[in-house]
Amino acid sequence: MKEMGEPGFRGKQVFSWLHRGAVSFDEMSDLSKPLREKLKTQCVITVPRVARKQVSRLDGTVKYLWELADGNCIETVLMQYHHGNTVCISSQVGCRMGCAFCASTIAGKVRDLTPAEMLDQVLFTQLDSGQEISNIVLMGIGEPMDNLDNVLRFLELVNSHDGMNIGMRHISLSTCGVIPGIRRLAELELQLTLSVSLHAPDSETRSRIMPVNRAFDVDDLFDACHRYFQKTGRRISFEYAMIDGINDSDWQADLIAKKLRGMPGHVNLIPLNDVVESPFKPSKRVAAFQKRLESHGLTATVRRSLGGDIDASCGQLRRKAMEEARKGEDSQ
Ligand code: SAH
Repeated sequence: MKEMGEPGFRGKQVFSWLHRGAVSFDEMSDLSKPLREKLKTQCVITVPRVARKQVSRLDGTVKYLWELADGNCIETVLMQYHHGNTVCISSQVGCRMGCAFCASTIAGKVRDLTPAEMLDQVLFTQLDSGQEISNIVLMGIGEPMDNLDNVLRFLELVNSHDGMNIGMRHISLSTCGVIPGIRRLAELELQLTLSVSLHAPDSETRSRIMPVNRAFDVDDLFDACHRYFQKTGRRISFEYAMIDGINDSDWQADLIAKKLRGMPGHVNLIPLNDVVESPFKPSKRVAAFQKRLESHGLTATVRRSLGGDIDASCGQLRRKAMEEARKGEDSQ
């Protein structure tokens, strides 16, 4: 606003309109007509369109497929927990990390999301559902550390007192183990929760299911996690999707405990979601593995699965829509 020769407080007015879900400058009735016209020529307001919305009959989980201004689609999931409503947002259109069990990465990465497109997911999910959002997890499609500048700007916006004012302690960021990103985040000493998608504590298994391990080996990843804890004092949450015969042996639980010694880790065991395209099957040893971790004094929880009836996990809805669009083209 100052650059446009306007007083600074006008910026606050626009910021506040945008956070009430204004989709055009014409709605901003406390701005003068000439200013609104000027804004129209110099700025755009991003407004995602609901391309699909599915509500789980089992638990009320809502899944949105948003269409962005350029026609790309992204997923957002709204989950109701006793501690409040949590929204799981995407950070990229697609993903280039290539994890073998994950549907989000099958067609690769199309592009990064802008800070506004991440913020829109939180804001428009709240406006459309009428449910106030209290927690955010960056666990949708994409690798946040592969788009870190935009993610950091988004965090600043969503944390703003004049905006959605969501506290850092109510935000989790999940990474597949991009070490430079973890280091950079550690320096910032934010109060958010870092989640690390571990999925295997040994190099051989991890490289087999997560190509990122060939660039950033799991032993270096553990080192980076220890440093992150020393720097921030924040407990890291380790995500572990249980895959039959691959990462569910007792020796792997023992190795996790050994590698986490010296920091208060929390292991979140995820029953594997069946992805049609993937050869991996859900493990039958989830409870046994949890016990084994606990025998070493670790905290281990099993993630409750929500939205099982609405393709709510990991890029499944976006894939389904892409698949249907492709079939539609074929039949024309
Ligand atoms: N790229 C980031 C953010 C995605 S978070 C990351 O990797 O952490 C999504 C979480 O779901 C990750 O822990 C991911 O490994 C996990 N996931 C992916 N596919 C899954 C599947 N089929 N079953 C269970 N969890 C899966």
